[in-house]
Amino acid sequence: MNAPLAIFDIDGTLCDTLEVDDECFCSVASELLQISLASWEESPQVTDAGIVDWLWRRYRSRAPTQPEIEAFVARYEAALSRQLNQAPSRFAATRGAAPLLDCLRREGWHVGIATGGWSRTALLKLRAADLPVELLFASSDDSPDRVTIFELAKRRADATYHGIHERVVLIGDGLWDIRVAASLGWALLGVGCGERGARLRQGGATAVVDDFLDGNEVLRLLRGCAVPSIPLSAAAASARA
Ligand SMILES: [Mg+2]
Repeated sequence: MNAPLAIFDIDGTLCDTLEVDDECFCSVASELLQISLASWEESPQVTDAGIVDWLWRRYRSRAPTQPEIEAFVARYEAALSRQLNQAPSRFAATRGAAPLLDCLRREGWHVGIATGGWSRTALLKLRAADLPVELLFASSDDSPDRVTIFELAKRRADATYHGIHERVVLIGDGLWDIRVAASLGWALLGVGCGERGARLRQGGATAVVDDFLDGNEVLRLLRGCAVPSIPLSAAAASARA
């Protein structure tokens, strides 16, 4: 298919929700496991389902049961909803995100959204930021594995838009997004300012933007950005990191 496909991550990419999300996730984990969780960075898989699995294995020496996972999702969604009521500004879209999605579609791009988060909390964030929920193609509901999630999002986008997309660009803010793109042979546009942006460049991103305010520049970078250049062994090992 001639039309290129842009697949956007949510937290830290389309939505400026990294802080509130992390706060709610860690407080629910701390409450349910009676621990004091400050960071999940040691989790081998950076997805909600993957982190919960890692937490239970670490603190309960077993995998979480389905009811435990459901209880986690429900509490986490409730925590985010409370924050949304109290401080809606913590759920803003990244600057320029909505106009960019419109612009891309006008320019003939196909657009999808995928996330390592669960769909319920992902939809809450997209609605809060007034972004198109119908573009969410895959989430942690589908798999704890980030590569599998994004691969599935692409397959669903192919089905939705009736054709196999040859050029795919992942737009993401995490080092794990770089690894997913490298594993799947997709181009990558990083999103992050200051130190976060520098980390993405060091991690192999060939193009990084602070935000999406300059639509023409973002479009130019989306057309030109390349598959991140990280050693394949590192991509395979750490796509799950
Ligand atoms: Mg992210």
